[in-house]
Amino acid sequence: MAYKDLTKQLSLREQANMLTGADWWHTAPVNRLGIPSIMVSDGPTGLRKEVSFGKSITAVCYPSATAMASSWDKDLMTKVGETLGEECLANRLAVLLGPGINIKRSPLCGRNFEYYSEDPVLAGELAASYINGVQSKGVGTSLKHYAANSTEVRRMVADSIVDERALREIYLKGFEIAVKKAQPWTIMAAYNKVNGNYCTQSKYLLNDVLRDDWGFEGLVVSDWTATHDRVAALKAGMDLEMPSTGAYNTAKITAAYRAGELKDEIETSAGRVLGLVDKALPAMKAAAPTFSMLDHHDLAADVAAQCAVLLKNDNKVLPLKKDAKIAVIGERAENPIVQGCGSAQINSFSVVSPMQAFKNAGLNVTYAQGYDIKLPDTDNTVLTKEAVAAAEAADVALVFVTSAPVDVAEGTDRKTMKLPSSMNNLVEAVAAANKNTVVVLTTGSAIEIPWADKPAAILQTYLAGEGYGTALTKVLFGEVNPSGKLPETYPKAYEDTACPDLYKPDENRNLIYKDSIFVGYRYYDTAKVDVLYPFGYGLSYTTFDYSDLKVTREAGAKEYTVTLNVTNTGDVAGAEVVQMYLGRASQSLVYRPAKELKGFTKVYLEPGETKEVTFTFGREELQYWSIKLDKWVVEGGAYDVMIGASSADIRLSEEVAVKSKDSLADEYDWYEIAPHYFKADIARVSDEEFYDVLGYDLTEYLPDKSDDRIGWDSTLEDAKNTSKTGKLINTAINAMEKLPLSEEMVELVKESVLGYPIGRFAPVSSGILSDTMIEGLIHLLNSDEVGESLKIMARGVPATVKNVVMPKISAKIHNGKEI
Ligand code: BGC
Repeated sequence: MAYKDLTKQLSLREQANMLTGADWWHTAPVNRLGIPSIMVSDGPTGLRKEVSFGKSITAVCYPSATAMASSWDKDLMTKVGETLGEECLANRLAVLLGPGINIKRSPLCGRNFEYYSEDPVLAGELAASYINGVQSKGVGTSLKHYAANSTEVRRMVADSIVDERALREIYLKGFEIAVKKAQPWTIMAAYNKVNGNYCTQSKYLLNDVLRDDWGFEGLVVSDWTATHDRVAALKAGMDLEMPSTGAYNTAKITAAYRAGELKDEIETSAGRVLGLVDKALPAMKAAAPTFSMLDHHDLAADVAAQCAVLLKNDNKVLPLKKDAKIAVIGERAENPIVQGCGSAQINSFSVVSPMQAFKNAGLNVTYAQGYDIKLPDTDNTVLTKEAVAAAEAADVALVFVTSAPVDVAEGTDRKTMKLPSSMNNLVEAVAAANKNTVVVLTTGSAIEIPWADKPAAILQTYLAGEGYGTALTKVLFGEVNPSGKLPETYPKAYEDTACPDLYKPDENRNLIYKDSIFVGYRYYDTAKVDVLYPFGYGLSYTTFDYSDLKVTREAGAKEYTVTLNVTNTGDVAGAEVVQMYLGRASQSLVYRPAKELKGFTKVYLEPGETKEVTFTFGREELQYWSIKLDKWVVEGGAYDVMIGASSADIRLSEEVAVKSKDSLADEYDWYEIAPHYFKADIARVSDEEFYDVLGYDLTEYLPDKSDDRIGWDSTLEDAKNTSKTGKLINTAINAMEKLPLSEEMVELVKESVLGYPIGRFAPVSSGILSDTMIEGLIHLLNSDEVGESLKIMARGVPATVKNVVMPKISAKIHNGKEI
């Protein structure tokens, strides 16, 4: 019998108890009925199963999401998913918390390394393959962070103000594809708000779109500590709150039920938690398989090699010859960065640095440190001189350029798109000394490359996981022919992005998505902004020819079929990522991007070999979201079917005339309403124009500035100007910089503590703080009245703290051991 069928046998309290975790990682058991708990864990590019606070098991670290997305290889994603599924089985993990597929709206988002792409079709398709891989092993996934969570700064309170067309076509689309194609067992509601509602409390996101429109069958879990009003969240369809808030929210839920505020929501969501347990148990009950860490380590290296993107290769300087005399320059060749920091961080099994891999391969290398990673923005003339001398004495200079660790971290955004200046200057100096300079770029996501015209070759590996060195060696020396393509655009400079000033929350915590649907290449292409490297770009050691494009539709068929031939015209085997874009050819009633990715495939070819590639497209690919008509519609007219080696390198195209029965007679006159969007002239879009697209006037929803008092939804950061105490707390937390923690950990903790709504400290405090104590804190932050505030706080000290914790502290104090 399924546990789900026992839902009605649970008491109200037991049902409510199912809706919060048992602890940080487990669902709640019901011992009376023998219902077990299951364990969930991060993910998603390796296992971060915690064994004690902050300490996780040793696990294989696979390439980061951006790296994997650069493969554009659905089969590879499935393979990695299957492998992680096996690791979960071996470690008794029922759900792996990933993949993360938020759209890379700004190059500065701190978590971009954890996300796939600026394009929802690429992100959604790759996620679906990954999910299918993991779930084929009987282990669940958690598609995250739903939705419009494209900024880290103030992520706990920021409000993404985004129009519904942009939501449907860009920010939700990847989730829609993954849900429809792979039915992840769970989906994780994000920290932020969307158009005024926390994601965890948004009926629009959780029930209307996710369940009603897309047919999601699984469970919605909150991001960790992202639940605010538990009762409102339950009503909106947010099933499981993680981590546990213990009795705090269970009591609120049962009280709301008794007051008639909740009806069958408790039973429905408890049933979904039990349904998840049912899905997970067969695999969890079966004998745990074993696997070889070494084999998985090798796979991680193989995968990384499939992800590398060759950005430049003048005079075919790559692949290198095995007997070339190579000057390896840059401390990161010895002390590499293979992953980012935060909840995705794996306790790696065995990291292979480039230097170690070069030595293992018996290569003829010398080493120069080049820069000091502890002083990334300081030029070190001694190290530069050494590097130049090493470059002069070698056939090839191999320079390692990477992100600073703090730029690849959760909980904080990058301050700049620039690389550390010591590395930029080093490349210039070395490239001037050796014409065969090859730069190995290892960054979290897109960066500015001011020196791109200087070295002969540039290879982007992204954060490649623990097999980094091995994978790099294979690619540099031609054992693997690079076949990755960029899943994101590299603008020439940050200022060239669609709205450089609007990627951070404003003083009202609003993130204004004025760029609407014009994200990434959709913006650069339409606004005709030159970029350094376009979306979908990447070179190979061979060349490919595209020919014989045919676009056909059988009479009565719903879909068009697109076929073409791709030929490997070089003399080494290689794989090509073929991309299909659609663009409007005749005038449209609505603004549209110049082109949009609608399909892609990776084809492997021996030298001289030709293969036919096929795509299909139909209503799904042709439609746009009509804000006025509140639905997807297809506009009849002419469309270009474009086949490209990148978004900017269209090799073949054909126009098709599409007929549609959809009536657009009632569509708005968008030329009148939103004229600047037609050329993606985002800088000129006025607030009014944006509000018309948005469908509401944001100014009507702005907080009353005359009341700057601290309240339940305020953060400690807000409190820095309201009272001496607020200032003091901010100073104390900022002083954490002095603690012996890495810069990125300090940023993460600071952002989490300072940026968290004060009213939420009680539920997440494991029973140490009560609402009354928070009231006392709020009183203190507004008034500086220490005595009165302490009195309020004292009234609210929970019984457990009074009876258990306080006596222990008091005993210690009296023993004179600690004060
Ligand atoms: C992150 C999630 C992660 C969760 C559990 C949150 O801070 O946003 O991606 O799965 O923590 O570690």
